[in-house]
Amino acid sequence: MKKTVLITGSSRGIGRATAKKFAKEGYNVIINYYKNKDKAFSLLEDLLSSGANAIAIQADVSNRKQVEEMCEKGYEKFGKVDVLVNNAGIADMTLFTDITEEQWRRIFDVNVNGMFNCCQCVLPKMISEKSGRIINIASIWGLVGASCEVHYSATKGAIISFTKALAKELGPSNILVNAIAPGAVDTDMIGGVSEEIREIIRDETPLEVIAKPEEIADVIYILSTEETKLITGQIINPSGGFVIV
Ligand code: NAP
Repeated sequence: MKKTVLITGSSRGIGRATAKKFAKEGYNVIINYYKNKDKAFSLLEDLLSSGANAIAIQADVSNRKQVEEMCEKGYEKFGKVDVLVNNAGIADMTLFTDITEEQWRRIFDVNVNGMFNCCQCVLPKMISEKSGRIINIASIWGLVGASCEVHYSATKGAIISFTKALAKELGPSNILVNAIAPGAVDTDMIGGVSEEIREIIRDETPLEVIAKPEEIADVIYILSTEETKLITGQIINPSGGFVIV
């Protein structure tokens, strides 16, 4: 029986590349999108025309009811979720003293509470089947902090602690929980970064690169494979050496 992956925020960027990777590897794919229906459905068409099984479901991950409905639709279509990739996220650059309560709440609602909602919705079935993988997308800034991104860094730090704690709790249920902490990845999220800054990032990265979303998708996929069945509670940092901890 084919395995199923649910990837939050897969209309664009890393999530989109991850959906393509899992589809290529034979998974049923649940695409989740928030605002970009057209992009989600163009991805759905691509996957279906390549022979994969897929469905696209709109849900704001910060909204518990919408997440529950998304999981129900996913179960109706494919029966279960073997791999959950908590990828949906938002970023923002604001001087700490200028961050509004609304900005602070929204970034935690999407990046942290979204992950909480999705995990709680898929876990009852995973626990009853004693099998599952959860892969959370953090960031190097969750490891080392970024100036003018205190709120973003704090959400990514929360994802890292959450991953470690949940891995301990779910190990006995044979559910592996890991996180990926990428450096700069060439997606819309860094679309506003000038070529000058990109050059600085490349210069300060030992492997002299800015990652492509497909390269991060490959690392995410590896964490779903049989070969990594002993890896849990780990924070994998595909940043080309930009951050070495
Ligand atoms: P992106 O290109 O901006 O795409 C973000 C995705 O998240 C979109 O598919 C968007 O959906 C979705 N999304 C946003 N808010 C959502 C919500 N409330 N509910 C459901 N989906 C929502 O970002 P990306 O660069 O691929 O980033 C993906 C993840 O990697 C994020 O968690 C980000 O923090 C992390 N990351 C990125 C970088 C980087 O340099 N790019 C580095 C480290 C970590 P719609 O388009 O449908 O609205």
